[in-house]
Amino acid sequence: MNNYDVAVIGSGPGGYVAAIRCAQLGLKTAIIEKYNTLGGTCLNVGCIPSKALLDSSHHYYDATKHFKTHGINVSDLSVNFQQMIARKNEVVAQTSGGINYLMDKNNIDVFQGVGSFSDATHIVISKTDGTSETIEASKTIIATGSKPASLPFISVDKKRVITSTEALSLTEIPKHLIVIGGGVIGLELGSVYSRLGSEVSVIEYMPNITPGMDAMLSKELQKSLKKQGLKIYTSHKVTSVENKGNEVVVIADDKKGNPVEFKGDYTLISVGRKPYTEGLGLDKVGIKVSERGQIETNEHLQTNVSNIYAIGDVVKGAMLAHKAEEEGTLVAELIAGQKPHIDYNLIPGVVYTWPEVAAVGKTEEQLKEAGVNYKSGTFAMRALGRARASMDLDGQIKVLADAETDEILGVHMIGARAADMIAEAVIAMEFRASSEDIARSSHAHPTFTEAFKEACLAVNDRAIHS
Ligand SMILES: Cc1cc2nc3c(=O)[nH]c(=O)nc-3n(C[C@H](O)[C@H](O)[C@H](O)COP(=O)(O)OP(=O)(O)OC[C@H]3O[C@@H](n4cnc5c(N)ncnc54)[C@H](O)[C@@H]3O)c2cc1C
Repeated sequence: MNNYDVAVIGSGPGGYVAAIRCAQLGLKTAIIEKYNTLGGTCLNVGCIPSKALLDSSHHYYDATKHFKTHGINVSDLSVNFQQMIARKNEVVAQTSGGINYLMDKNNIDVFQGVGSFSDATHIVISKTDGTSETIEASKTIIATGSKPASLPFISVDKKRVITSTEALSLTEIPKHLIVIGGGVIGLELGSVYSRLGSEVSVIEYMPNITPGMDAMLSKELQKSLKKQGLKIYTSHKVTSVENKGNEVVVIADDKKGNPVEFKGDYTLISVGRKPYTEGLGLDKVGIKVSERGQIETNEHLQTNVSNIYAIGDVVKGAMLAHKAEEEGTLVAELIAGQKPHIDYNLIPGVVYTWPEVAAVGKTEEQLKEAGVNYKSGTFAMRALGRARASMDLDGQIKVLADAETDEILGVHMIGARAADMIAEAVIAMEFRASSEDIARSSHAHPTFTEAFKEACLAVNDRAIHS
């Protein structure tokens, strides 16, 4: 039987990063993945394919709406959707192939099959050909991720009533896509198809899209998406979804309780994701799972069975690839006897619509609720020379800082390249910078990052360009 210091179950961003860090620290490591490609949700049916389609559709949208103003004439512009999906598949294949390379490079043994505990130190790996093998591991890291969630009365048939997984591999551009859930995944995929010409209706139960984000971001994003043609119905509660063959009928109650009917050719169910633990044999080892299906852990991500850890989407916290990666690193280092730490307040959240939305730290609503004495500075993107040069005028940056110490407590951005720009705010907050620290740091001109500097200047009423 194969013996390992560490076995990792699941090869998503949590699992593969944990495996690499374990191997770097000299631990003999195995990784088990039930699918025949590595990379989990993120690489295969999540972050990477969605960004590939967002980028392709962005090019098309720019070509149809903005090229003429830039002085570029294109005629006979059209979408070859099959090619767009094929390119997306190629990006996914290359990225997943990269994980195989990294496993090889770090001498990590890869097992393909479903991993299931037979006891706390033995994992049975069941393969698709019906055979199985057992490995022994002193420590195990569960990184089995999540699956799309639905509502109890919705039957997801994966044909017309679909999840994000199917939405990333459609064979035609929907005429009318009904998106149930105005969170990150629904808005990103809704944007893709809206840019490609679909009518897109987003139905959200809460009064705002992207619930949980700073209200300024939700409001600004909703304005921008509406301008792009997406129809957004907030405070609407979906009560029924029916596949009628070649159309889907969705009924939702509006704010006043009146039923509203939506007819489309596809409905995307994007109401969140649920932790995935099926087939793991948790009951065999007595690992506790919460009411929400998340594996319960202590602050060291250790389950109630002390040699078994759990990370990523399968435990509590934001369902984000970079959160899973940080947790993978943390657990590997803990196992190796180090004392790592994660500040969950500084895990950024991003929506890859256009304009992009990105945030880190506390929202204004959270600071108000906690009774924190704060000051705020905002700066509109349209005041930037760079924004005018590139015609990306929508958006703003808001910086929230402690009223007495000036320490930055939260940064909320909407605008071109916000997904990349939020890194500066994360670093600033990791080093507990004050808004003045950023305001006094030189930012290259002309760049979008100047808006962050200006918003920091605005915290003390001294923005230069507004
Ligand atoms: C459409 C979409 C877009 C997204 N975009 C982003 C984004 O832009 N940025 C971001 O940060 N996050 C994004 N996410 C979320 C991100 O994909 C997840 O947070 C991330 O993949 C979680 O990583 P993980 O390692 O915990 O689990 P996963 O990536 O879900 O990987 C778990 C792996 O475990 C395997 N597995 C499960 N059970 C077993 C078993 N018993 N034996 C063997 N293998 C098993 C699964 O097959 C899977 O490969 C997106 C998600 C979706 C759906």
